[in-house]
Amino acid sequence: RTMIGFVNPLAACGITDARRRSMICSAKKPRGFLTDGKDEELERIASEWRKKQKRQEEKKTIKKGKEEKLASQQANRSADKKKRNSSAMRNGGSGAVPTSRKNPYVEPAKSSGRTTFKPEEVAGVRFGGSFTIDIPRTRVPEIAFIGRSNVGKSSTINCLTGLKKKVAKTSKQPGRTQQINFFILSDAEEQDLATLVDLPGYGFAKIGMEDQRSVEVFLERYLSDREELKLVAILIDSRREPQATDLALLNSIRQFPCKTQIVMTKIDLMTPSNLSKNAQAFAEAAGLTDDDEDLIFFSAVTGQGRGLLWQAAQEAIAMS
Ligand code: GDP
Repeated sequence: RTMIGFVNPLAACGITDARRRSMICSAKKPRGFLTDGKDEELERIASEWRKKQKRQEEKKTIKKGKEEKLASQQANRSADKKKRNSSAMRNGGSGAVPTSRKNPYVEPAKSSGRTTFKPEEVAGVRFGGSFTIDIPRTRVPEIAFIGRSNVGKSSTINCLTGLKKKVAKTSKQPGRTQQINFFILSDAEEQDLATLVDLPGYGFAKIGMEDQRSVEVFLERYLSDREELKLVAILIDSRREPQATDLALLNSIRQFPCKTQIVMTKIDLMTPSNLSKNAQAFAEAAGLTDDDEDLIFFSAVTGQGRGLLWQAAQEAIAMS
């Protein structure tokens, strides 16, 4: 009876020492009755486990510290961004509002200073930034494009560059562009030759009256006071009969000092007879006389009219 008191209870249940060790090692946490100090091996395992626990706790604390630091950095960054935006708004939007991180216009001017160049000399095109106000002076001649949303402004710009790179984004969603977008053309020596300017569409379906008014304000400022602006191409969808908004735009643009050129777009979608019918109807509704500039028939798909549009642009640049 006395001997029974010294029998290992696990062994008494038929569990061998090896099995017992494996049970202890695989246990997530040693059980209390195994760490009574009498069994050295168990004490060692328990102490290792405690050390491991300590190391894990330390790791957790370091990780938590790092996460907190990261979160506070992020919070600071977003607070800074908010501050910058609100200060720009307070200044009445003073300062350009580039949508790109790197705005090429803050780099030193690389104007070639030339007033004549051939379209074939265009070797590169890059996005020059989106602005609403305080557009930096560049001394590079600008050709601007205006017209209803979806009339084909971006496509015309891409077609004019003659390059594979489609720098202006064409869209199936009209009325989204509410800024003045700049696309700078350069020659093989990376000298800037001209800037093609995508002006906000009008007749917006997707923006509110207030936004529309603010677009009109910065558009008027650009058209009335921009030394670099040489020509405004007014784009009209050749598929449509004369639209009141197009006629109103034509009248208001003509009150600004800039030279204008009317361009009928998407002519590849028209039969010659329908094109001529719509063009005639537009000319009549707009009160164009024989002395007025000719309409240019243009297709960004076939490139028809590209030469004529470049010619009008070159003449306007050379005249200034
Ligand atoms: P934006 O809103 O005035 O800049 O117009 P986009 O250039 O984005 O063109 C609007 C849509 O008309 C796009 O789906 C273009 O692919 C299409 N488009 C533009 N120009 C032409 C053209 O000359 N011919 C044809 N067939 N489609 C065109």
